[in-house]
Amino acid sequence: MDIQNTDKLWQAAMGEFEVVLSKASYSTWLKNSYIKDIADSVATVGVANDYSVGWLKKHFHGPIVDTLAKLSGGVITEVVYTTSRKNGEPEQIDFPLIHNAVEKSATPIKPKTNTPSTLNLNPKYTFENFVVGSSNRLAHAAAEAVANDPGHAYNPLFLYGDVGLGKTHLIQAIAHRVLTNDPTKKIVYVSCEQFTNEFVESLRQGKASQFKTIYRETDLLLVDDIQFIAGKEATQEEFFHTFNYLHQRDRQIIITSDRLPKAIPTLEARLSSRFEMGMIVDINLPDIETRMAIIQSKCEEKKFAIDDKSVAYIAQHMPNNIREIEGAINRLIADCQLNHLEPSEEVVKKILEKFMSQPSQKTVNAGRIIKTTAAYYNIDVDQLTGDKRTKELVYPRQVAMYLLRHEMSLSFPVIGKEIGGRDHTTVMHACEKIEKELSKNEQAREELSNLKERLYTTSN
Ligand code: ADP
Ligand code: MG
Repeated sequence: MDIQNTDKLWQAAMGEFEVVLSKASYSTWLKNSYIKDIADSVATVGVANDYSVGWLKKHFHGPIVDTLAKLSGGVITEVVYTTSRKNGEPEQIDFPLIHNAVEKSATPIKPKTNTPSTLNLNPKYTFENFVVGSSNRLAHAAAEAVANDPGHAYNPLFLYGDVGLGKTHLIQAIAHRVLTNDPTKKIVYVSCEQFTNEFVESLRQGKASQFKTIYRETDLLLVDDIQFIAGKEATQEEFFHTFNYLHQRDRQIIITSDRLPKAIPTLEARLSSRFEMGMIVDINLPDIETRMAIIQSKCEEKKFAIDDKSVAYIAQHMPNNIREIEGAINRLIADCQLNHLEPSEEVVKKILEKFMSQPSQKTVNAGRIIKTTAAYYNIDVDQLTGDKRTKELVYPRQVAMYLLRHEMSLSFPVIGKEIGGRDHTTVMHACEKIEKELSKNEQAREELSNLKERLYTTSN
């Protein structure tokens, strides 16, 4: 393993981070980052400012260490951060735009101007980069129609489909296209979660009218992952009024969801009927031809030369989820570059076999569950497994027990042992408690699904 080439190593690591972090986090915290040096198995990562150092340490340290350890074949075991840019001085701190669940605690700042970067759009999520196949043809056509004539074609446009199939890509492509056609158009692009957080925050700060203004002065409102509005009554109420206000004025509304409006639990009937007023269109699993085209296009995007046979091999053997296909390609590119391999069919086969023979389930072990849960809640493993019974520690501890039970099917006594030698009745109680919480608390469900995503997607 050639770890002398720190640039390539970091590039490979960034490829993995890109798939697991939101675009906002990725570009905000890892912008201009690089490996400054590697000495005695400690990699020093240079980042733009103290703010990034703080965030990375707090929220993303584990995945960085794990990824570098893996890519360096175990040579790197620790990571420290420094504020230095590759070609110059540390940057002035500019307050970052906050868009992701992990960063909820910070106050969201609204973009003042309307450009792809202030809207936090991924520059790659354009129509040009979207591969059209039978699974998404209709969704693509509807999205283009709306982008080219906002407010008139279909309003609202409701896109739905399983995770990783291109909803966010398409909704952002609309925003890109609208801005290209007319840069003066006002666009608000938010995740449902962000809408909720901003709404709640505006109430807390007594700035509800400011919130209303922002959302009502827009020409287009794009809301990603609306299913998370389930169970949030006040937010639904607010969204209902925002929706009506915009819709009556022919302002375009675009919504994505992982399911049909009717299938969103506790979604008020009046909202679900509003969502059905325009066009509802689904995105399906891509067939093999579409998968091949997507692989081809992702490799081109990354300037990675690959032959047709290898492409066909990947398309046949990878699952249909496009995000996972991208993950596999990133891994392939990293392995090829680090080990100086040409991507022949044989090489591809070998690397992907490794990738696929460790389906995510198997890479999860008790240690990882405990570590990831602790990191997710910003506490130490020792605190998680320790005796202190403060609220900040008890809940994460119970979540960890729940995950050990549900993700690994461990017995109650074994779980007790893993979590600091606790009695099996404590574990049973914890699992019941979390189950109850999940059945009635949408926020808890969301949190757990974010945590699980991190558990399974962040590399080990
Ligand atoms: P979703 O929002 O539905 O969970 P995303 O839009 O985030 O899915 O897509 C997951 C990844 O797959 C993204 O990197 C996206 O660019 C890519 N992707 C999805 N569909 C396509 C497509 N048709 N062509 C090219 N890339 C795609
Ligand atoms: Mg999405």
